[in-house]
Amino acid sequence: MSSITENILQLKKEIPEHISLIAVSKTKPNEDILEAYQTGHRIFGENKIQEMVDKHEQLPKDIEWHMIGHVQRNKVKYMAPFVHLIHAVDSLKLLKEVNKRAAQNKRSINCLLQVKIAEEDSKFGLDIDSAKEILISKAYAEMDNVKIIGLMGMATFTEDENQIEQEFAYLQKHFKALQKEYPQLQTLSMGMSGDYQIAIRNGSNMIRVGSSIFGERNYH
Ligand SMILES: *Cc1c(COP(=O)(O)O)cnc(C)c1O
Repeated sequence: MSSITENILQLKKEIPEHISLIAVSKTKPNEDILEAYQTGHRIFGENKIQEMVDKHEQLPKDIEWHMIGHVQRNKVKYMAPFVHLIHAVDSLKLLKEVNKRAAQNKRSINCLLQVKIAEEDSKFGLDIDSAKEILISKAYAEMDNVKIIGLMGMATFTEDENQIEQEFAYLQKHFKALQKEYPQLQTLSMGMSGDYQIAIRNGSNMIRVGSSIFGERNYH
């Protein structure tokens, strides 16, 4: 057995069944994705729209494509026909654009609001109050073609597991509180190769794993 196959089967054995695994295939060639596909895996994540569009065209049509990266509004139209879930919505403006493009494609697109939990400046995302504002806004209530189904967060890139734990715990706390008012919030996307175990301990039900499946990337 070659390593992608082994890695993905091992990971699926390890994580509880209710957790969705997004195989993050950014920068990886189609043959690597097909190897994972052959194990029965169908959910893949990309962080660049053009790359995802190309792969969607070239690969089997029953793949569920997740956009996990920062989204530029002017590119939403390219993925609107097929994207399964957009993880990193971080403004009402972006949500409006997704709604508009989804409507043009006569579909509804599921989204997560990205909440900033890391201390680094470089991480995109909303503070929790701004995320709430979007959820309660009249503008969102009037959108027929997008559905916010949860939250996404990325922890600080650090060796300090306590800090990562605290950041995930913070998001879980707010997720649970928001869920009481908005039962449609069902998905908490937290955890990558280096920290998915901590994320799962803190209530994540969707993990985004790249290098632990496909190996290290040469570029980001
Ligand atoms: C690249 C990426 C991942 C996966 O990272 P790994 O460390 O390779 O598992 C997860 N989430 C986002 C948003 C990413 O950009």
